Amino acid sequence: MKLLEERIQRDGIVKEGNVLKVDSFLNHQMDITLFNEMGKEFKRIFTDCTINKILTIEASGIGIAAVVAQYFNAPVVFAKKSQSINLDGSVYSTKIDSFTHKRTYDVIVSKKYLSANDHILVIDDFLANGCAVNGLVELIESSGATLEGVGIVIEKGFQDGGKSLRERGVRVESLAIVDGMDAATGQITFR
Ligand code: 5GP
Repeated sequence: MKLLEERIQRDGIVKEGNVLKVDSFLNHQMDITLFNEMGKEFKRIFTDCTINKILTIEASGIGIAAVVAQYFNAPVVFAKKSQSINLDGSVYSTKIDSFTHKRTYDVIVSKKYLSANDHILVIDDFLANGCAVNGLVELIESSGATLEGVGIVIEKGFQDGGKSLRERGVRVESLAIVDGMDAATGQITFR
């Protein structure tokens, strides 16, 4: 998506450790006009799919998922990072390693909000090693719901998440794929 690539070039900051900071429009301040353009684009890309629910993960996926959901007339469910393992069987749960926070979270979704009748579009801000999306896919599999596809705002194509998901037959559509970035020069290249 040209508009998004231009915005990343203009405002993205490359940090050490393969981290791209896009706080000015995606991860801290949110540009809702741009989010709406992304919502329209995801709707165009997934127009052939029947989607009745959007699944994302807190916190940074929620804003974009909420805007995208309007184009699908679907509710958003966000997986919650939980402090305590729930033992009463009322939730689906999995563990997710956080790329940015370098720790592992227990992540849960209530069984009330994910079921075998659901057709899910997963939305997230970044795809790096794929831990977050893999965790969400696991929750979907536990529930018996159908995964229609995964929509990502920025995929870091030099990390393995996208490749391994696609090899497993998951439909992954990213609005921008960064192929390389250099913290010393600030240069960002796209696929
Ligand atoms: P993964 O689980 O695919 O390794 O990483 C995806 C998650 O980590 C995303 O939900 C996002 O919040 C965070 N993340 C991964 N890489 C970056 C990055 O370069 N910049 C930012 N801002 N977040 C990232």
